[in-house]
Amino acid sequence: MSLPPSPAFAALNKAASERILILDGAMGTQIQALGLGEDDYTGHGSGHACRHHTDHPQQGNNDLLILTQPEAVEEIHYRYAMAGADIVETNTFSATTIAQHDYGLEEAVHDLNVEGARVVRRALDRATAKDGRPRFVAGAIGPTNRTASMSPDVNDPGYRAVTFEGLRAAYLQQAKGLIAGGADILLIETIFDTLNAKAAIFACIQAMEDHGSRLPMMISGTITDASGRTLSGQTPTAFWHSVRHANPWTIGLNCALGASAMRPHLVELSGVADTLICAYPNAGLPNAFGQYDEGPDDTAPQVAEFARAGLVNVVGGCCGTTPDHIRAIADAVAPFAPRKVPAYA
Ligand SMILES: [Zn+2]
Repeated sequence: MSLPPSPAFAALNKAASERILILDGAMGTQIQALGLGEDDYTGHGSGHACRHHTDHPQQGNNDLLILTQPEAVEEIHYRYAMAGADIVETNTFSATTIAQHDYGLEEAVHDLNVEGARVVRRALDRATAKDGRPRFVAGAIGPTNRTASMSPDVNDPGYRAVTFEGLRAAYLQQAKGLIAGGADILLIETIFDTLNAKAAIFACIQAMEDHGSRLPMMISGTITDASGRTLSGQTPTAFWHSVRHANPWTIGLNCALGASAMRPHLVELSGVADTLICAYPNAGLPNAFGQYDEGPDDTAPQVAEFARAGLVNVVGGCCGTTPDHIRAIADAVAPFAPRKVPAYA
């Protein structure tokens, strides 16, 4: 890609050369704590009524809150920014036509992404007005709820619920919306299927070409089983070589595991990748009720150990983490220098 880099690119590279950067934490737990009901999700009770019509129930459609409860979403982003996050993610994990299909809200996808980036920008500008620190909007691109490289039907292994082209088109719409809303970074996260991720990468590059500048791309996989592989069967090294052509700003891991269980996979990735490393684990493993038990004082020392060992350039939190976790992580990694990017052998 011979596109000129975006203005944020240079600022991010400079910051990353000086210190370990902080990514925000989980959105889901913060939204759950609001105790919103169906009318709050649709905006018909409190908030802003969604102008997109659907007959499906919307409770649980967290991305929709960007349009119906923007003040509440902005407040969560703001709390993460003030807790020390340099990079804050949009609430757009499921803002593709593929993921919104379950809610019948495909037509809201463009608005979700544009407004999703804008609401983070507003929160970060408020935080920066207070303390003068620059902060960056990462447009979050989730894996969707379908996988391109495996069949969901055990009786028909050749069947696919989604195609590469279907994913590419959906991701292109999302990436364009995020960029239009002012995203500084495109973050492809929680990758369980590398083929889905490749469609997202291709779409992001197309969106950047349309936009006329190159944004930093963050790519984050998730290890889903005890053998240390992604759901589509790759080790961290294989995953890196599958996406290296995209020249990502960061490569890393998030979700599925707590920090300690993530560590060996991070060591492997850090050893092979000639780019920045980003890690944002869950607050431990979920308990029997699907909740995360690690408090800030449990998670932060584990992430600090990544930093002490020189494994990371960007750290944050995934499921179960809160602004208090992010504040504790930011404090704990502050004494340590960022990982040095190795020259490719
Ligand atoms: Zn997670």
